[in-house]
Amino acid sequence: MSQSRELLLNSKQVFISCIVPVHNEAANLVDFVTSLQNELTKHAVTYEIILIDDGSNDNSFTKGLLLASGKIRLIKLSRNFGKEAALTAGLDHCSGDIVILIDADFQHPINLIPEFLKQWKLGYDMVYGICSNRDHESWLKRFITKKYYHFLKSISKINMVPNAGDFRLLDRKVVNALNSCNERNRYMKGLYAWVGFNNIGIPFTVAPRAHGKSSWNFARLAELAITGITSFSNVPLRIWSFIGFFIACCAFFAASWIFIKTLVLGVELPGYASIMVTIFFFCGVQLCSIGVLGEYIAKIFNEVKQRPKYIIDQKINFSSGPSVSMYNIPNKSLTEPQV
Ligand code: UDP
Ligand code: MG
Repeated sequence: MSQSRELLLNSKQVFISCIVPVHNEAANLVDFVTSLQNELTKHAVTYEIILIDDGSNDNSFTKGLLLASGKIRLIKLSRNFGKEAALTAGLDHCSGDIVILIDADFQHPINLIPEFLKQWKLGYDMVYGICSNRDHESWLKRFITKKYYHFLKSISKINMVPNAGDFRLLDRKVVNALNSCNERNRYMKGLYAWVGFNNIGIPFTVAPRAHGKSSWNFARLAELAITGITSFSNVPLRIWSFIGFFIACCAFFAASWIFIKTLVLGVELPGYASIMVTIFFFCGVQLCSIGVLGEYIAKIFNEVKQRPKYIIDQKINFSSGPSVSMYNIPNKSLTEPQV
């Protein structure tokens, strides 16, 4: 396999698609796309850069329009659907043998692409960047993120690599596998791990944002975190059965103790305060469990509605249709059997 990959890369015949989610990146876009193009030209004759304007309210779309010609394509979503949906739109519309997901704010180093390609050449189907410094984030965010990944790993069967984000190279077969996952509640980090394949992480230093500010506030991060848990684990549901059973056992022993104390030992129990505390405690427990159930039901509700994952307002520079790669055509000399 890696022999034919080597041939493709050395002859620059590999078709590379780059997917760039864009939300309020007007100040970065032109410089970013120019730098990305300079890098891609070194590795491939055929490549495409797909910019996904995810409901920007600055003039990112206008900047995108200026860029969208030749190998640069632009998709405008009808509103802000979130980064996961923007990436999904890109994955649905790319045609490359290799797909690279990269942010538009220069935080993902473009000069790591040759290393990604080298690993693909060696036979890895998914190569991802592992963020080795989170110094730009507050200690609280770093702490919560670390605990979250730890928790998620302990309650789900999939192996999500901590600090590995969306900066990735994906082989076509990984893209096809991701595209076959039809869920609306998309947690991409979980899906990358869930689809499996031969993968490797490359540490990288996250650069400070070139311009603008991060679109992720605490509420959005919390929502994504809950989607991650509910999409990849049933443990929060099951745990309430165990808690319920444990509390029922405690209640039984407490009732027996009160029964013995009152009837056998003749001690009268002062009641009001302890009853109130017990009632509040169990109300809290029940509301928590209903809340967890609610989270799952809300996700099921979203899934059964079967709404599209995103809506496209405009597609620019897609008219000629996707270019076709040698690698994807069966029986060409450079092609190997697709697994
Ligand atoms: N982004 C997007 N939709 C959103 C939020 C962000 O497409 O709703 C894009 C954004 O333009 C950038 C990438 O996703 O290219 C990462 O976003 P950001 O830099 O805000 O996140 P951070 O790097 O702070 O995690
Ligand atoms: Mg960023």
